[in-house]
Amino acid sequence: MKVTVIGCWGGFPKVGEATSGYLLQEDGFNLLVDCGSGVLSKVQSYIAVEDLDAVIISHYHADHIADIGPLQFGRLVKSHTGKTLAKLPIYGHRFNETEFKKLTYKEFTAAEEYNPAMPISVGPFEIAFLQTKHAVPCYAMRIEGGSHTVAYTADSSFQEEFFPFFRGADTLLCESNLYKGMDGTSVGHMTSEEAGIVARESRVGKLILTHLPHFGELEQLVPEAKEQFHGDVVLAEEGFVWEGE
Ligand SMILES: [Zn+2]
Ligand SMILES: [Zn+2]
Repeated sequence: MKVTVIGCWGGFPKVGEATSGYLLQEDGFNLLVDCGSGVLSKVQSYIAVEDLDAVIISHYHADHIADIGPLQFGRLVKSHTGKTLAKLPIYGHRFNETEFKKLTYKEFTAAEEYNPAMPISVGPFEIAFLQTKHAVPCYAMRIEGGSHTVAYTADSSFQEEFFPFFRGADTLLCESNLYKGMDGTSVGHMTSEEAGIVARESRVGKLILTHLPHFGELEQLVPEAKEQFHGDVVLAEEGFVWEGE
């Protein structure tokens, strides 16, 4: 499995960059996990809009769904100027019916419900869900494809429920929207230190810190996480690639 970070910023995109978006590729299948602000522009550095096979959304905050509309228009325009495209499935939960319905657009994209109690198959991927601690219903994902497992916290404050859910994953995309010593419970986010604890207790192979803050010194996040987790820790950035290690 190949994972490419398309966007790694929390809340809003840094100049010329994007908020949450991760391209997962396996066996010729292209899955986009979250589609935040700037993602549609950035993802085209790696794959054509018409080559996306599926999209899955963790929750309906703007920094994870802002570019769904442009993606839908992109599929429309491409289908009028090139080959006819298959309807693109966009998977989302149904605890916000208004937002869920927006995932469908004419014959170009189709809202596909995931029931978080049930793992789903999307192409070559098996995806399981765990509710996070966030302001709106949000789901962490455990994504298995080929011989590898990728864990993704989406947005959440710290919870021990992550430990068994992520257990033994090869790599963990963990939000670290805050620095060590801050309190993320009220804002629904984690610190670098908590990301390290999640990685350690879940015994993952690698920790990728993402959903990054727009304040402070980002370089501090890695050593703060490393105090808790002694495996490899890296800061996400656009274009960062993880391939099963
Ligand atoms: Zn977010
Ligand atoms: Zn959020």
